Amino acid sequence: MDENNDIIQKIIYNEPMKKHTSFKIGGNADFFVSVKTIEELKQALFYAKQKQISRTIIGNGTNILVSDSGIRGIVIKIDIQKFDLKEENDYIEISVGSGNKMMALATQLKKQEISGFEQLSGIPGTIGGAIYMNAGAYGKEMKDIVISTRCMNMKGEIFELSNEEQKFEYRSSVFNTKEYIILEAKLKLKKGKKEDIELQMNEYLNQRKEKQP
Ligand SMILES: Cc1cc2nc3c(=O)[nH]c(=O)nc-3n(C[C@H](O)[C@H](O)[C@H](O)COP(=O)(O)OP(=O)(O)OC[C@H]3O[C@@H](n4cnc5c(N)ncnc54)[C@H](O)[C@@H]3O)c2cc1C
Repeated sequence: MDENNDIIQKIIYNEPMKKHTSFKIGGNADFFVSVKTIEELKQALFYAKQKQISRTIIGNGTNILVSDSGIRGIVIKIDIQKFDLKEENDYIEISVGSGNKMMALATQLKKQEISGFEQLSGIPGTIGGAIYMNAGAYGKEMKDIVISTRCMNMKGEIFELSNEEQKFEYRSSVFNTKEYIILEAKLKLKKGKKEDIELQMNEYLNQRKEKQP
């Protein structure tokens, strides 16, 4: 790839990271860019390589603490959105972008009467962030529903990892040790009834509210 002019227009200099983290603290990132497509992500990685600066990947910033001194190099926020569903014989396969928010996905699944995501519905952040740390709640973790994940390495090469290859453990995965960027994931869910899904989601959200006032 020779051109990265498009991404240069989107790059912000000295961006306060408190604008991009739940804790609302922390200094500035030297460079910051939000990418919505795989092409933009490739361009951002190319930009970092050309400038010889470090890259920090973030999702929705709900599990990131930034110090007052900020972040050197470029922060790349992954905002790649997708939602497709495919009915298989005994399950429903959902293809979802790594930038889709967990809570928004839960609402979308409820509308389409797809069950199996209720326990995870109140976890803040993106699908990418949730897969990265194998997020979980109320007895369910991402590892229980991820079929496979499409990723990119720092050279811009794209590949797919099976559930097993993602080495999910309690709040960790292969992504903690390898510099892979999560692009999208296939999830295994099932048909449900809107009323039941809504009831369960409300139950878990109420439990959450009691614990996190
Ligand atoms: C109020 C509150 C409640 C929470 N409840 C729960 C809970 O019940 N269960 C739970 O497990 N967690 C919980 N969390 C933690 C947090 O919501 C999860 O860790 C969430 O999955 C993080 O997603 P994010 O998009 O915000 O990731 P970020 O905070 O932006 O990033 C977290 C890590 O993931 C990496 N990452 C993000 N996106 C990608 C990507 N596309 N490719 C590669 N790496 C990526 C980042 O590099 C970083 O290391 C809670 C947090 C808060 C603030």
